[in-house]
Amino acid sequence: MAMVFDVALPQVSIAGSADVFPVRRIYCVGRNYAEHAKEMGATGREAPFFFAKPADAVVPVAAGGEGQIAYPLRTANLHHEVELVVAIGGAGMNVPALSAGALVFGYAVGIDLTRRDLQAEFKKKGQPWEMAKGFDQSAPIGPIHAASASGLMAAGGISLAVNGTERQHGDLSDMIWSVPEIIAELSCYVELRPGDLIFTGTPAGVGPLVRGDCVTARIDRLGSLALTIA
Ligand code: MN
Repeated sequence: MAMVFDVALPQVSIAGSADVFPVRRIYCVGRNYAEHAKEMGATGREAPFFFAKPADAVVPVAAGGEGQIAYPLRTANLHHEVELVVAIGGAGMNVPALSAGALVFGYAVGIDLTRRDLQAEFKKKGQPWEMAKGFDQSAPIGPIHAASASGLMAAGGISLAVNGTERQHGDLSDMIWSVPEIIAELSCYVELRPGDLIFTGTPAGVGPLVRGDCVTARIDRLGSLALTIA
């Protein structure tokens, strides 16, 4: 028996290693920073929530490299959202927050690219956000840093600049759900498996990108990710 097509498995590089991390699923947390929830029109007191992107939405950017994406179709308001990404290396369902750390393979800097105009339209109509979030090249990500080296990412600066001007700035300690809490919550809905990535939400300051923009996203201890919008 043979596969009728060759389908490439999406993958992300691992810092300081020739090995790669195969991507199984991409989950994202919505409104995990109170100030961002407010800029999106909420009070900042609601519980965060989950959505997903296809695995092959990843755009892996090597350490010291510069990624490039094409300005996506069907939008005139592409937004940047810098996020801490958790790479899952173990399996679990209904995982208690206290033991959630055991599932973490490592961490990376990611950008949850969003077609904000489509998202606003879908929200207004009460329709799914899927096409506002889960489009091609919507998940640029830097190399994964092993959790053994980075330690638990509970605090540290997270920021994003466009053409050298800072647009987003926050601290991981401001996340409403911490990394262990995200894993515990998400694993009540779905079984987490090795290869899963979780984008953990963005701090305030999201805004539009245009063709030619050069984006730099960074998180303390994880380095920076450079991306050009072609
Ligand atoms: Mn996001």
